[in-house]
Amino acid sequence: MSDVVKLTDMRLKEFTAEVERRSGQRISQCYQCGKCSSGCPMAFAMDIDPARIMRLIQLGLRDDVLKSNTIWICAACQTCTTRCPQEVEIAHVMDTLRIMALEAGYTDSERETVEALSQFVENIERRGRVFEPELALRLNIALGRPFKDFGRGLQLFARGKLPMLPEKIKGLKELRSIWEKVKKLERVEGERHVNAHETQHS
Ligand code: SF4
Ligand code: SF4
Repeated sequence: MSDVVKLTDMRLKEFTAEVERRSGQRISQCYQCGKCSSGCPMAFAMDIDPARIMRLIQLGLRDDVLKSNTIWICAACQTCTTRCPQEVEIAHVMDTLRIMALEAGYTDSERETVEALSQFVENIERRGRVFEPELALRLNIALGRPFKDFGRGLQLFARGKLPMLPEKIKGLKELRSIWEKVKKLERVEGERHVNAHETQHS
């Protein structure tokens, strides 16, 4: 085997190992039965179905996986996870892939979805309740089209369908503390998966 082929092979395996390490899932155990894809309610809108995503990870095809719209279309419903005979937590793998795609800047295919998700979370964190006019404006500014929904927004204001001022919920302090706890649990869970994976492979 030539050095170039060996180097390419190493890089491909690096991606597979990284996804397995970060998700804590043994994707190499997937034998392509297709049960995840056949039960996925969002597969119709995905460019690559979940089983094929698993196969591409096994093959180490980083670009194809991280550029796919599948990881953003996934609704995290867990149907695939409950159907998998090999106990691969596919929904969790999708979470991991979203994080990896964000880190690597692979968000062009679904930039609007990615931006909408992050603006939505920030909006709720601010007051405990979504303030739609601000959400739409911030999203459109981030996407470089600040006036896109201006006319529609005015119509909705005129009909009393949009609030003029934002409202804060009463228990905002408590909500923020729950939010912090969830973020901490997510970090702990992530570390638990990494440790479990390292123990399995040591
Ligand atoms: S978690 Fe995502 S990939 Fe799995 S079945 Fe639901 S939508 Fe499909
Ligand atoms: S259900 Fe599990 S084993 Fe079957 S294709 Fe999906 S990930 Fe692979």
